[in-house]
Amino acid sequence: MNIILLGPPGAGKGTQARVLVEERGMVQLSTGDMLREAKDSGTEMGRVVADVMARGALVTDEIVIGLIREKLATVKANGFIFDGFPRTLAQADALGELLEAEGQTLDKVVEMRVDDTALVARITARSTCGMCGEVYNDETKPIPADGKCTNCGGTEFKRRADDNEDSLRTRLMEYYKQTSPLIGYYYAKDMLSRVDGLGTIDAVQAEIRTALDA
Ligand code: AMP
Repeated sequence: MNIILLGPPGAGKGTQARVLVEERGMVQLSTGDMLREAKDSGTEMGRVVADVMARGALVTDEIVIGLIREKLATVKANGFIFDGFPRTLAQADALGELLEAEGQTLDKVVEMRVDDTALVARITARSTCGMCGEVYNDETKPIPADGKCTNCGGTEFKRRADDNEDSLRTRLMEYYKQTSPLIGYYYAKDMLSRVDGLGTIDAVQAEIRTALDA
């Protein structure tokens, strides 16, 4: 089963994708993670996208579609979770074509709904383990007092450079202008389910499970 987790920055897409990876052996394809890796490893593409990402703007369709094309051609999986992709209608069309070329289908799109005030609060409180990517939140899931990641024991935590209020405003604007039309697009294709992204991690996961197994 191939699915998209769709929602604004801070909706919890990455957190929920990690649970699905663990529970169902699916593979998470996060274009944000791929772009951050390219940036950190200092590749030419990384240099090109660094400034765009820091501002919270969207990287070109050509670049992100290229990243997904390469993964779909090389990674074999018992289902992909697209996280942060597609973000534009052109990317959505391209995803359909790429999956078809691989003899695969897109099965479900889960929209995670969260109100904007909660998003700002979540994002400005967010940090992740530098080793395994486990997500923490200063208020709801603080880094343990012993300074060790509950998942892998890692001791270094980082905050994303674009998790500040300025970039977040731009990211939210891009979401509403460019990505939210995908809700209608997938609704019309009869693929859309909606979940309330504001609950606890377990509560949201339960709703996603129901949507996927329906
Ligand atoms: P994310 O980790 O999904 O929040 O993505 C972080 C940043 O990477 C975004 O603010 C964009 O600058 C860029 N990015 C990630 N995925 C895409 C995409 N599908 N299309 C365009 N830009 C993207």
